[in-house]
Amino acid sequence: MKTLEKKPLILVIDDDESMRDSCTQILTKDGFQAEIAKDGSSGLEKIKENKPDLVLIDLKMPGINGLEVLERTNEIDPNIIAVVITGYATVESAVEAMKKGAYDFLPKPFTPDELRIIIKRGLERRKLILETESLRREKKLIEENFITMVSHQLRSPLVAILQYFEVILGGMVGKTSGKQKEMIQKAQSRLENLMNLITDWLDVARLDNGQIIDRLKPLSLKKLIKKTLEDMRPIAKKNNISLELRLSPRDENVLGDEESLKQVFSNLITNAIGYNKPKGKVVITIKENKDFIATEIQDTGIGIAEEHLPFIFDQFYRVSRGESQKIKGTGLGLSIAKKIVDAHGGSIQVSSALGKGSTFSVLLPKAEKDTLTF
Ligand code: ADP
Repeated sequence: MKTLEKKPLILVIDDDESMRDSCTQILTKDGFQAEIAKDGSSGLEKIKENKPDLVLIDLKMPGINGLEVLERTNEIDPNIIAVVITGYATVESAVEAMKKGAYDFLPKPFTPDELRIIIKRGLERRKLILETESLRREKKLIEENFITMVSHQLRSPLVAILQYFEVILGGMVGKTSGKQKEMIQKAQSRLENLMNLITDWLDVARLDNGQIIDRLKPLSLKKLIKKTLEDMRPIAKKNNISLELRLSPRDENVLGDEESLKQVFSNLITNAIGYNKPKGKVVITIKENKDFIATEIQDTGIGIAEEHLPFIFDQFYRVSRGESQKIKGTGLGLSIAKKIVDAHGGSIQVSSALGKGSTFSVLLPKAEKDTLTF
């Protein structure tokens, strides 16, 4: 990366030789590197080659005029600071140049000090831009490294430990006593919770990286929910909860990412099963209106007290009182669901009555009618 620790490089593009010379003299005397170009096209070549920190562009030049040079400079590198030199009669073009991205303008004739002030301010701005860029890059790198680090260095050993436990519990390396078995099962269950936390945490990091939007395509929500529901049947059965699906007669597409939307509904249905009462019920209803498809996940479970409702979509928020306390979780499922739904341009809402049950509603915009289903 180019930094300002080196002498800043300033390029003067002007067809007037005396102007080029006097600017160069002042700039080199002040400790900058100065380069010159006598017209727009050679100026642009030098910009591409040397990536100057700041360019002084005369607006009135034969050949490619200053405004065009300015536009192309921006295309080459929007972080290069461009200052335009204007004649008295061309204040309007100076305004136009500012609209086109010039940092400032210098009306002719100008004194060495006027030039110095503008250059100083322009270079300070350049320094800020470069620092911000470098911080942004660093942040992205840290985030990416974090995701890789968590998935490999943390996840892999946990998977290995869980496999060892399986081997021991399966009796493949000798007999284990009842007490030993019990302790290993407890360790196994704690590790599984940790694995869930890491998986959820990784999902959050990936979502924050904005990877969903690129993958949206038209898909049938009806099919997706049917599939998700089939995957949930074994847990529902284990918890003695009945699942019911009420479909709308229509079947229009939403613009969505299949895996992410499955995760939304799987999180919501898992909660509806987990926070239910014995022999409870979960009803999933799909309704359509002109522009949206609404999916309601209604349960007959423990419900959520009013004071907790505003927070349950927050990261790591868990209701740590009453029945909720007994159920294991990470407090990330709903925040992940909300992030995904938001990324689809939809919304997610909840209504609940303590002791009676909750209804989560997911509203997703329909795909345009003329888009094809893949
Ligand atoms: P987790 O379930 O892992 O704790 P979530 O983000 O999925 O995290 O949910 C946050 C909290 O909201 C839960 O801890 C629970 O207290 C409450 N909650 C979520 N869904 C329901 C539900 N269907 N019924 C009752 N409480 C719920």
